[in-house]
Amino acid sequence: MSKEDLFRSIDHMYMSPAPHLTMEFQGGEPTLVPELIKEGILYSESKREQTGKSVTYVICTNSVNIPDHLLDFCSNYNVVFSTSLDGPEWLHNTNRGKSDSYQKVIAGIEKVRDAIGEYKVSALMTTSELSLDHPKEIIDAYRANKFNSIFIRSLNPYGLAKDNEDWPRYFDRFVEFYKIALDYIIEINKSGELFVEELTTMILKKILTPFPIGFVDLQSPSGIVNGVIVYNYDGYVYASDESRMLAENGDYKFRLGKITDNYESIFYGRRVQEVSRVWATEYIAGCSECAYLSICGADPVRNYSTQGDEYGFRPSSTLCKKNMSIINHIFHLLDTRREELMPIFQRWITGVE
Ligand code: SF4
Repeated sequence: MSKEDLFRSIDHMYMSPAPHLTMEFQGGEPTLVPELIKEGILYSESKREQTGKSVTYVICTNSVNIPDHLLDFCSNYNVVFSTSLDGPEWLHNTNRGKSDSYQKVIAGIEKVRDAIGEYKVSALMTTSELSLDHPKEIIDAYRANKFNSIFIRSLNPYGLAKDNEDWPRYFDRFVEFYKIALDYIIEINKSGELFVEELTTMILKKILTPFPIGFVDLQSPSGIVNGVIVYNYDGYVYASDESRMLAENGDYKFRLGKITDNYESIFYGRRVQEVSRVWATEYIAGCSECAYLSICGADPVRNYSTQGDEYGFRPSSTLCKKNMSIINHIFHLLDTRREELMPIFQRWITGVE
């Protein structure tokens, strides 16, 4: 990305009405251009002071070779690092197709912790088909590496993964994986160790509290455009990360305009107006009469990617089936094990031990 496009993107970001912003650097590998990250943060900081908004910076990295000078710089600002950890060494390395990936990631995680703080690095897992057989080993690998939470999340059928999987079978297996993992995590918490499952916590927040969550996949109106926007290195603006991934494969359906366009023509332009007709659970067939419409989310990009149109068809949607199965399971737990589980769930929601 050119410096000019980076600065224009930041100008747009500060035109958002949101008082709290997250500016996420994604790649490829953003730490390969540390000077651009620094310039972006410094430019953003000057705008932040003028506007009074709060900003969190996230650097998504493979954790390999993060330069010391970048960490020194980041220690002065509200920067967190997000990396990938798939579970135990053998599983992570198999998923990544490299024999030394795990060692490098763990070394990178420790380096960030030492440089800018214990809680300044988080990890996300890729749940491959191989992972689905090993929920407990994955959770134990996170605990062994001093994480006190995990986000049990499925693969999404975008980009390279799109043609490689038997998706309905994958999602059925994923739901079983989620249930086993959640049971195991509950047992860990019952023994006195605080260990949080993030997806369950977000759904519990939506069920049990009036507060919104920032998770793009469970929002209505959808997280795309309303909660996230991608300014890409190619000089174009995309509705979401998944939209950008479609573009990497030659499909520009969710390209909203150029970074050089003005804010209004991107956020209120023709393409956003079209997508807005299908981006809320309250008015799309199936969702509008579903008991879970306020908990679930609308995802036109996912509908388009998996079903060929933005509106989607809930009876054959793997996303709908997965979300419904998981929300059903959480209600089942609240219904059948309320006394036992509410103290744990309350700790997860409030963060108070
Ligand atoms: S569970 Fe399915 S029908 Fe219900 S709101 Fe979610 S996507 Fe829509």
